[in-house]
Amino acid sequence: MSFDSLGLRAELLRAVSEQGYSEPTPIQKQAIPLVLEGRDIMGGAQTGTGKTAGFTLPLLQRLMATARPEKGRRPLRALVLTPTRELAAQVAESVDTYGRHLPLKSTVVFGGVSINPQKQKLIKGVDILVATPGRLLDHVGQRSVNLSKIDILVLDEADRMLDMGFIHDIKKVLALIPKQKQTLLFSATFSNDIKRLADSLLKSPELIEVAQRNTASETVTQVVHPVDKSRKRELLSFLIGSNNWRQVLVFTRTKHGANRLTEQLGKDGISAAAIHGNKSQGARTRALAEFKSGKVRVLVATDIAARGLDIDQLPHVVNYELPNISEDYVHRIGRTGRAGNEGEAMSLVCVDELKLLKDIERLIKRNIPKDVVEGFEVDPSIRAEPIINGRGRQQPKGRNRRPGGNKGSSPWKKNRPASRGNSNNRSRSGNRSKSAA
Ligand code: AMP
Repeated sequence: MSFDSLGLRAELLRAVSEQGYSEPTPIQKQAIPLVLEGRDIMGGAQTGTGKTAGFTLPLLQRLMATARPEKGRRPLRALVLTPTRELAAQVAESVDTYGRHLPLKSTVVFGGVSINPQKQKLIKGVDILVATPGRLLDHVGQRSVNLSKIDILVLDEADRMLDMGFIHDIKKVLALIPKQKQTLLFSATFSNDIKRLADSLLKSPELIEVAQRNTASETVTQVVHPVDKSRKRELLSFLIGSNNWRQVLVFTRTKHGANRLTEQLGKDGISAAAIHGNKSQGARTRALAEFKSGKVRVLVATDIAARGLDIDQLPHVVNYELPNISEDYVHRIGRTGRAGNEGEAMSLVCVDELKLLKDIERLIKRNIPKDVVEGFEVDPSIRAEPIINGRGRQQPKGRNRRPGGNKGSSPWKKNRPASRGNSNNRSRSGNRSKSAA
């Protein structure tokens, strides 16, 4: 099934194809026609299923169909509520992306940043607002937004909003929105509280549910290869070469790291291309096409760049570095093992990353098997150091490697969180690799 058969207008199809999406995801297939009909929806879907496009595309189309030729400031007609600023920013980016060929305006508001620039944008008038509940109410209080003309309301990750204690804020917002409207509620879980909220809010809703991303990972074999940081690149080349992998998606934490690794793989005779935020859309599309066609064996990506890329059904995903945000791990490994296919996700983990690994294992509620590759045994005298250049977070400074080398047991054996250090340059004698990755 293609996007063309869903009844979307040409401008939206164009935006979708520019994103490189070839086929709607299961939730999009179900949600888009229903939302276009004006139905209320109760959607069981997590992030990673394509739900954002599932509600954004038909929402944009409906706003176009009911465009109001009013003079003066355009009334706010669609409101998307999200629990966190990260999700709000992500949804707003999707609204921008999918709506880029339409004359609709949107903006995003969330707390933790100055309210004034947000006010300026709201006062000029927008059709669509993505917001976290608390900051939205601040704007209501300051009269920078009027919710009385809302036609479409989306509650995204409703279960998380309730978990975070937003129910009172949500009720206050609902009291300001017209009763007559279309409501789309998305939630990964359906607790009694969610059902109560849905009952009070939705009119004869259509229930749509898709398998969660976490369950898709049942078909993914996960493994951790413990390795010293300075030998990661060597191990990666070894794994690719000795297993004769032809198509591998590799994740790095930073754009710089992606570039460097791509270069180094090239020197090892393994064709690789990098995609990240500093690359133009054209360069990204080209890299993806070459990867898909088999011209390059390895695509090195950052988390942000990998979002929105149609790279389904990959046999191998490698976490060259673990992500700082545990949820990103689930997104990354969800790139393989899709649609019942077997997939393999391996993580090259150095001692600095033990804390990140622990967080990930807590999130996915299982221990990932550890497998030391022969010849790449970790040096137990190396102590953890802070992760520099990580997105968003840098660990505090502290002490690092023990003086005197191999004293005491390796943190790997006890699997305890890494101690902290302050230097990022840890080239040790005995390394086969010349250049630290
Ligand atoms: P979401 O669940 O909305 O957070 O989307 C998860 C990821 O899937 C995002 O990176 C989207 O850009 C991407 N995506 C959404 N729809 C499609 C599609 N039809 N084909 C491929 N990727 C998609």
